[in-house]
Amino acid sequence: MHGPLRDSHGRIMRDLRVSVTDRCNFRCLYCLPETEEAADFYRTRFDGLRQPVTPIASATPIHREWKPKSEILSFEEITRVVRIAVGLGIEKVRVTGGEPLLRQGVDRLIGSLSALAGIRDLAMTTNGALFAPQATRLRAAGLDRVSFSMDSLDRDNFRRMTGRDGLAGVLEGIRLARELGFHPVKVNAVVIRGMNDHEIPALAGFAAEHDLSLRFIEFMPLDSSRAWQKGLVVPGREILERLRGGFELHPVDASANPSETARRWRLGGGRGEVGIIAPVSEPFCGHCNRLRLTADGKLRTCLFSLDEHDLKPLLRGGGSDDALAALLHDRVRHKEAGHRIGQADFVQPQRSMSCIGG
Ligand code: SAM
Ligand code: SF4
Ligand code: SF4
Repeated sequence: MHGPLRDSHGRIMRDLRVSVTDRCNFRCLYCLPETEEAADFYRTRFDGLRQPVTPIASATPIHREWKPKSEILSFEEITRVVRIAVGLGIEKVRVTGGEPLLRQGVDRLIGSLSALAGIRDLAMTTNGALFAPQATRLRAAGLDRVSFSMDSLDRDNFRRMTGRDGLAGVLEGIRLARELGFHPVKVNAVVIRGMNDHEIPALAGFAAEHDLSLRFIEFMPLDSSRAWQKGLVVPGREILERLRGGFELHPVDASANPSETARRWRLGGGRGEVGIIAPVSEPFCGHCNRLRLTADGKLRTCLFSLDEHDLKPLLRGGGSDDALAALLHDRVRHKEAGHRIGQADFVQPQRSMSCIGG
């Protein structure tokens, strides 16, 4: 018998993020940039920043090859890990990637996960481009909630930020998610200074108009170009000031859920909500209850973990459920106290957010 997954800092794990693929059909500037335009953006923006600058050309790029299929966990393997984790107290499961909707038949995985007793909340994070054609199947398979990533409402700016001309598809996905009864429909926007910070009011207005839960997220050093700079981060309090300038904000009491990452406000008029996730300027690691499973079967105890723990030898080598549970317990015990962004000893993880699973 194994009890809940408790780390050496007293935190109990309740939330598991499962990446189902490291591949993506977008190339977001802050995650997996590839285009010359993206490189140019960083080069030109860096000139105006006060911090010392590492030009993109000389930054060491993170390894960006896709993992071979043989290393990617099957749906059966993922379901087994989730079942064991749920037996150890995990209640929330978020399917992510890379782009999870690129994984063939992902609705079958959703179906298997939703059949597990003990999951309170089964969600997905997607860039939305492939959501519309799969939405009905995902809903029928038991997906409770969906979060879309949408950083801009301007077609050209959206393309600059994601490397793809995909805004119309994402808007259609959001519309359909609401129509199908996903609730709340969340939208995540990573805010980058000089890129989309001028769109903060427009994005909040969109949330009010369509009754969405919008999350503004600070840019974290998890991009494959290693081009992150502090000066590109718009701190949460600055986002809040800009929102206060145009909206009536009513704080949402989150005291019942101390592991909530966002500070949240209802928007005046009664429709929609905004939240600010500020991991860089206001870290919330002290209440972290999250674990991550990468598409290639590695357990990560922190977004910024420098080492990962491969579950495949046990999964594929005849390991028992008990042995897997013992491994989860052992690794969670060593979960990092928090990230070290801004400290002299900070080291960016080897893999980008697209591989880690946001
Ligand atoms: N492809 C899907 C998507 O974009 O929604 C799921 C995976 S993506 C890695 C998950 C989330 O991570 C997205 O909301 C994205 O905006 C966020 N993200 C990626 N890189 C980030 C970074 N460097 N800083 C902050 N958030 C980031
Ligand atoms: Fe792809 Fe999501 Fe990363 Fe954008 S944030 S590149 S959509 S994985
Ligand atoms: Fe949790 Fe690590 Fe993120 Fe802090 S940085 S909230 S410890 S995953």
